Amino acid sequence: MFFQRKETKLPQTEQKRETPDNLWIKCENCSEILYRKHIEKNYWICPNCNYHFRINSDLYLNYILDGGGFIEEYVYNLETKDFLNFPGYAEKLKELKEKTKLNDASRVGYGKIDNFDVIFFITDFRFLAGSMGAVLGEKFFYGVLKSIEKKIPYIALTSSGGGARMHEGIISLMQMAKTTLAVIELRKNSILYINILTDPTMGGVMASFAALGDILIAEPGALLGFAGPRVIEQTIKEKLPEGFQRSEFLLKKGQVDLVVPRNELKTTISKILRLLS
Ligand SMILES: [Zn+2]
Repeated sequence: MFFQRKETKLPQTEQKRETPDNLWIKCENCSEILYRKHIEKNYWICPNCNYHFRINSDLYLNYILDGGGFIEEYVYNLETKDFLNFPGYAEKLKELKEKTKLNDASRVGYGKIDNFDVIFFITDFRFLAGSMGAVLGEKFFYGVLKSIEKKIPYIALTSSGGGARMHEGIISLMQMAKTTLAVIELRKNSILYINILTDPTMGGVMASFAALGDILIAEPGALLGFAGPRVIEQTIKEKLPEGFQRSEFLLKKGQVDLVVPRNELKTTISKILRLLS
């Protein structure tokens, strides 16, 4: 079953509540009214239609890593610079830092998954739609160096609406090359690299490090690709098939290896680590 939903969505924490006391929320896919506490316990998956709500990086860390967290490395303090004086960028960064308590859309650190040591990299959609700038590239690269040094697997979970961050111009595009070269270093050193693709992973992120893993795992219904379906339709002037660029469609085409519901991500990765380590 493919999800038919609108393209632009805010992350879960930003969604408008349907009731003043936040007790109930409406599923964005099937419109079922759901008891918020049930959804929270159900990994933010709609029990009625299996729709996976967009969630932030803290929740993913909770769901996947032992003890619900990881040790963020010194790169956490890397500050994004507005080196192009892009209109409104500096103000936006300041506002987002206060709101999300994050320094950037990306985070990287050590963690454990069922006692297996891993380097975990994650993007957070709340921060400029999980877009890739200079800080993301540096954090990703740093994680790769740590992975090689410690000889432990590298896992990257992505959600990115636009891919490369336009506010950083060519510098953000260069992160595609930087992260790709970093993945090649992982390969040279025989380090296992796993991608977890969540809705949406698009643009330069999908066209670089997010699609280069040894194993690509996607959440159900996630939109994954370079250009969005609307842009492609307008360009080729043809109607696209149902479910185009969704996880299930890409699984059939061999572009992802597994479609795994959010509540089974941890056990699935743990099995892979057991088999391949
Ligand atoms: Zn639903």
